[in-house]
Amino acid sequence: QSTIDEFFNTNVIQVVGDSALKPIMSFEQLMVDKEIKRVLARFDKPTPIQATCWPLCLSGKDVIGIAETGSGKTLAFIVPAVIHIKSPPYSPPNHQPFALVLAPTRELAIQTHKQCEMFDSTCGIKSVCVYGGVTKGEQRKLLRKGAHIVIATPGRLLDFATDGVCDISNVKYLVLDEADRMLDTGFEEEIRNIILKTRKDRQTVMFSATWPDSVRKLANDFLTNPIRVTIGSQTL
Ligand code: ADP
Ligand code: MG
Repeated sequence: QSTIDEFFNTNVIQVVGDSALKPIMSFEQLMVDKEIKRVLARFDKPTPIQATCWPLCLSGKDVIGIAETGSGKTLAFIVPAVIHIKSPPYSPPNHQPFALVLAPTRELAIQTHKQCEMFDSTCGIKSVCVYGGVTKGEQRKLLRKGAHIVIATPGRLLDFATDGVCDISNVKYLVLDEADRMLDTGFEEEIRNIILKTRKDRQTVMFSATWPDSVRKLANDFLTNPIRVTIGSQTL
């Protein structure tokens, strides 16, 4: 316990909510097969946001992670998605996506997709990235092949979800990445419409660099008893 307290103090980690789960301080502590470990082996150890969020995300809880840019938030939500997919609590039918990651911009969606792709050849996790500003043809083809994880900007995803190209009705793991930026960009309406099309019993995970009222409200409307993890001194 004292090691954990020290870890929380040193990294200024605050956890708010009903959770007694211990952080995962090393990759060895992750109960996963060696394929996943092989991907993670390029790094030393989990970052504070990963160490703290992994056990929460793996337990199926709704999670809010607040941490600055560059703190490793992507793998904080991708690794639990990969583990869920490999030992499914639930598998959607017909190659429908299990996980959906919403991101504010095409660049961020592509970056997230790159980190997902590390789990393709080694772990067999298929991911597709779709975003606006380009024609739909190629993206439509990729979506039709099916994927475990879809990474998308909200506008384009809503188009594909509405015209039936991407059936998100069985999405069980939903990630709202950079929630503050998505709301600033004016995607609130799209995000709300998308969420309403996913499974009611889904797990929802939200990441943000800041914790303004707009993000709190979204969390309040769509997350269930979330655990909130803050890394670093945020004025809350
Ligand atoms: P954020 O989303 O918090 O801005 P990213 O998830 O994009 O940050 O990660 C930033 C960089 O840190 C990436 O290049 C990623 O590969 C790297 N990274 C992720 N996890 C670790 C880790 N455990 N140890 C070292 N580097 C990591
Ligand atoms: Mg990020």
